[in-house]
Amino acid sequence: MKYHETQDYSFLLDQNHFIYDHSEDQKTLHIYAKSKPHSCKCPKCGKESNVLHATYQRTMQDTPIHCKQTYLHTNVYKYECQNADCNCKVFMEDLPFAKASQVRTDSLNALILGVSMFLSNEGASKVLSLLGVQISNDSIQRLYDRIEFVDNPDVEAVGIDDVAIRKGQTYATAIYDLKDHHLIALLNGRDADTLKEWLKGHKKIRLVARDRASAYAAAINEILPECIQVADRFHLLQNLLGYLKDIFKEEMPSNVYIRDGKILDNKPEKVLQEKNPDEKHIASLNYDNTLPKNPDGSQRIYDNKKHLLTTKQYVEQAESRKKNSN
Ligand SMILES: [Zn+2]
Repeated sequence: MKYHETQDYSFLLDQNHFIYDHSEDQKTLHIYAKSKPHSCKCPKCGKESNVLHATYQRTMQDTPIHCKQTYLHTNVYKYECQNADCNCKVFMEDLPFAKASQVRTDSLNALILGVSMFLSNEGASKVLSLLGVQISNDSIQRLYDRIEFVDNPDVEAVGIDDVAIRKGQTYATAIYDLKDHHLIALLNGRDADTLKEWLKGHKKIRLVARDRASAYAAAINEILPECIQVADRFHLLQNLLGYLKDIFKEEMPSNVYIRDGKILDNKPEKVLQEKNPDEKHIASLNYDNTLPKNPDGSQRIYDNKKHLLTTKQYVEQAESRKKNSN
């Protein structure tokens, strides 16, 4: 199925790009887009050019719509630089939703990383395929391998925390910029020595928000004695809750019995009570609640508490089963 629309779907991309066509089948959706302006700044010299050199089509996988594999086909323009002094003759227009040579859009890569953060690569690949994203577990790993931490040697305020990389197996020390909370370093292990080495290259730090681990405190004191150390709110609260739990554990008995709003001194005795059925309700159901009778007309006695196979009822039942099977 393919049809042409005059509607503008540019809200799906950005104000400079618009969707001019789409096609879909059972499993896939293809979106065709191109850019509105026909001029672009040269990435080398910055001069605007409107001289088209050529166009070509870039195909990228995009975030799925309705769990269909979604592909974005974009007509990309190549321009000729009009600056005679510039050594860049032909340049490609920049796409705001994917960097050059990317086979997936930025938003799809973000979705993939988000899902795989909580799953193995293999599990993430399977879950994503249900959502309509086709990616192998190797490709997910390659996405991870490309993540780079941009360290900032001039950073003045950092947060330091230990994190588990594989639940409870490998630990690392995460260091993030307190201003915008972006990760600037992930050090192996959570001991003081690796942190000390890193701190030596970051002497401008004057404030560290850290967790409770004293190993970090000693390392910071040694390398940056002037630095102020603060415990972040999360860890303060965690500390407080830990202490409160310990206090409660000592003060409180393991079981507390409350009856009618009063705490009982001893464990109350269990009262076994037969429940009486609601006669009105049973009548409304036309349910025959008369007690069962033995073949001789006498009332059958049920034992509804102790399910002992030696009771009269069970013995009788067993005998009648034997009789019937013969
Ligand atoms: Zn140029």
